Amino acid sequence: MIVIEKSLLEKIEAEAEKSYPFECCGIIFGSIEKNEKLAHSIKSIVNNFGSGEEHHRFLITAEDMMRGELYARQNGLDIIGFYHSHPDHPAIPSDYDRDHALPVYSYLITSVKTGRADITASYVLSDNKFTAEEISAE
Ligand SMILES: [Zn+2]
Repeated sequence: MIVIEKSLLEKIEAEAEKSYPFECCGIIFGSIEKNEKLAHSIKSIVNNFGSGEEHHRFLITAEDMMRGELYARQNGLDIIGFYHSHPDHPAIPSDYDRDHALPVYSYLITSVKTGRADITASYVLSDNKFTAEEISAE
């Protein structure tokens, strides 16, 4: 389960709407306690795909990860997951998403229908398969 404040979830959804018709993406920072991830803050990342590709795949580079790790360390946090949007597509991970995912992290996907954020769902990779993860928004 990932516990995320409603205001933070709304921030992700607002970013997803703002990026429409392109995908947004970013890093989720927080802490892991027992089996729960507690989201604390987010940092958006410029979509690194070239034009023509940015509407259906997101990319977080090694450099983005390094900057994210530095930010996390400076703030006493961990990287607990990533978020991105699916413009006019359901909040279901693509094969591309699965191929580029790592275990443990939460992958939040916000579907955006004609410019408005619809559903946000979270997934965790295990055995090279995504399983849905519960989001607790308070
Ligand atoms: Zn995706």
